[in-house]
Amino acid sequence: MKVDFTYDLLIIGGGISACVFASKYLQNNNTNKVGLIEVGRGLGGRSSTRISKRFKGWELNHGAPNLNICNRKNNLLLKNYIDELLANKFIKIEDSESVYLDQETNKENIYNSEFTCGINYLSLFSMSQLSQKIIEFNNSKAKIDFYFETLIVDLEFNNNEWKLTSKNGDIFKSKCLICSTNLLLHKRSLKILDINQIPLRKAIPKNKEKKIDLLLNFLDKQTYIPRLTFLIYTNKRYNYKDVYYKKNRYFYLQKNLENKYKFERIIFQLQNNNNLGIVIHTKNIDFIDFCLKAKDEDLINQKIFSNFNDLFKNNSTINQLTCNEKISIMKWRASQPSSNPVPLSFQFSRQYRIGFCGDWFEGDGFGRIEGSILSALELVKKIRFN
Ligand SMILES: Cc1cc2nc3c(=O)[nH]c(=O)nc-3n(C[C@H](O)[C@H](O)[C@H](O)COP(=O)(O)OP(=O)(O)OC[C@H]3O[C@@H](n4cnc5c(N)ncnc54)[C@H](O)[C@@H]3O)c2cc1C
Repeated sequence: MKVDFTYDLLIIGGGISACVFASKYLQNNNTNKVGLIEVGRGLGGRSSTRISKRFKGWELNHGAPNLNICNRKNNLLLKNYIDELLANKFIKIEDSESVYLDQETNKENIYNSEFTCGINYLSLFSMSQLSQKIIEFNNSKAKIDFYFETLIVDLEFNNNEWKLTSKNGDIFKSKCLICSTNLLLHKRSLKILDINQIPLRKAIPKNKEKKIDLLLNFLDKQTYIPRLTFLIYTNKRYNYKDVYYKKNRYFYLQKNLENKYKFERIIFQLQNNNNLGIVIHTKNIDFIDFCLKAKDEDLINQKIFSNFNDLFKNNSTINQLTCNEKISIMKWRASQPSSNPVPLSFQFSRQYRIGFCGDWFEGDGFGRIEGSILSALELVKKIRFN
């Protein structure tokens, strides 16, 4: 049966930007009912956690494993919010070891990369739970209805009202709309959703609202980095060579090494059941292509094991894998926007009662959690629906 839901405010997406937005919006505004629609099974989006049905007790952060805040412009909104997360004990300053593997000198250094610059913070929960905690913090009156496993495929704006249609035909209506994802604004939606017009463009035709035209122009040129993450469920006895009890251990590969081994970084994640999980990230296009085309999963696994064992052959802390470990793969078609950040000035259209947030906006944190959080906070500040 198709259902028809009406809300004051609808939010598309349940990633960290949507959760920060919803939380702060509820804190600052008197609103009745909010609906949050997410295609995934839970909150977190690209900062989420794989809770495997097959491997009980394992929780691997398979997108962003932590967050780093540079805040070069000393934005007080961002600074205060991070302080709030610290005070509420949602995050703490990262105390895990970060190692930079360098082929030339064969030495290990601490390194400042895109994901390590500034101050690094670790969630005190899994990454999915962090988003959940953030949104629950100001949702004590249960004003938000959550719709998971619901993919929005169509947007319409008529008579001052937004009408959203999901893939299974459910209709959601609201006076105001927040898009925390740009899928419905970007040309990649045509292929992914098998449609012939970008949904936002269809809802707001060209020349009706300059801000929307400019936003869509920027996004038209925005490109993305695809990534794969390999989740390794190690054997019970697998451990470090040395004594190390911190939650995570990060290994970043210098470019030459990344080209050779195809791995971008390797994150060891200590589990609550004391198993040691390993998440390997790759953005090497040839390797991604190989993995996507390989007919036999064993071929991919063999390659991962042999590269891993080769890389850590003489390492003083990391043991070799026995190749009996189980691996699952997560495919991130668009893991990170990589060009044409959208100016924050196009974030909100009062005329169409629509706002946008996410890591695809300009600033220090472009393509990272920092950008997602900042854009959500900026949007709450800008938004005036009445
Ligand atoms: C492998 C990987 C590693 C990363 N590492 C780091 C890191 O170390 N540090 C860092 O800061 N950042 C990292 N990032 C980037 C970081 O994860 C993102 O910047 C951040 O999570 C984006 O949050 P968001 O809320 O803006 O978007 P998202 O998390 O993408 O949230 C958007 C949500 O909308 C949902 N959605 C999309 N379209 C629809 C639709 N039509 N209907 C319903 N729901 C929809 C999606 O399922 C998603 O949950 C990494 C990303 C990946 C993939």
